[in-house]
Amino acid sequence: MPTSPRLPVGDVTAPVLTDQDGPPFVVINSDGAADCLLVCDHASNTIPQRFGELGLDEARLQEHIAWDIGAAAMTRRLAERLNAPAVMAGFSRLVVDCNRYLDDPAAFVEVSDQVEVPGNASLTAEAKKERAEALYRPYHAEIDRRIEGGLLSGRVPAVVAVHTMTERMRGEDLRPQEVTVCWARDGRLAVPFMRRLETVEGLVVGDNDPYGLDLGEDYTVPEHAMRRGLPHLQIEVRQDLVGDTAGALRLADLLYDAMAEPLASDAACGREYHWPLEGDVQPRR
Ligand SMILES: [Zn+2]
Repeated sequence: MPTSPRLPVGDVTAPVLTDQDGPPFVVINSDGAADCLLVCDHASNTIPQRFGELGLDEARLQEHIAWDIGAAAMTRRLAERLNAPAVMAGFSRLVVDCNRYLDDPAAFVEVSDQVEVPGNASLTAEAKKERAEALYRPYHAEIDRRIEGGLLSGRVPAVVAVHTMTERMRGEDLRPQEVTVCWARDGRLAVPFMRRLETVEGLVVGDNDPYGLDLGEDYTVPEHAMRRGLPHLQIEVRQDLVGDTAGALRLADLLYDAMAEPLASDAACGREYHWPLEGDVQPRR
């Protein structure tokens, strides 16, 4: 917790990140030898000092609107089990959502799951740019750097994106899916991974349900993996299962058991281009 008084919301005189803040991204197991890169866009609920709590009650910052509860713990565990590096965003998606295109209003949410975010009301283009330069671009540049480095040395890194989803949106019923595999067109890893998960007794697996991989909306996997033809996985785990360390480790181990073989198989070795295809609706840029 910060020890100094927080600045008022929207103090435009301060930089986005000061020396009281951490870095825009965190790398785990940097020298991991696997041909795989884990990414966690929504790992953190931290808000840079400059923004106060974005005008929100502190309790709101513990909720799914601020981050993917349990995702960082699962990513750390997967990095260890796979011996793969992981890049995790250092700040809350409420400041800028690293899995959205910057011209998508959802990158800077004014209302998230019926909660108004006062610190995001009517942001100017300059204010958005500042956040993007300080947080979003360094995170994605690090992912780029690692993937390009792998490719230059003749490797084809698979990209594994770890997310969690709330067990229910406000006012809705409990979601039955406990793990959802989000994919589009390139099922090289997604399908064998999903088939293995489906053999886990009692586990309810979603196939693009309740969320899929949305081209033009999701940013990280389409832009870093699909554009380069890299094998990839995007996973959503229901957050009530991973809210404590034991749960996060249990689910991460289930994911590991289901992805280890597909990642080691021929399917994960080459580059295949499934998107963009001629005639496709082009994503926002
Ligand atoms: Zn997420």
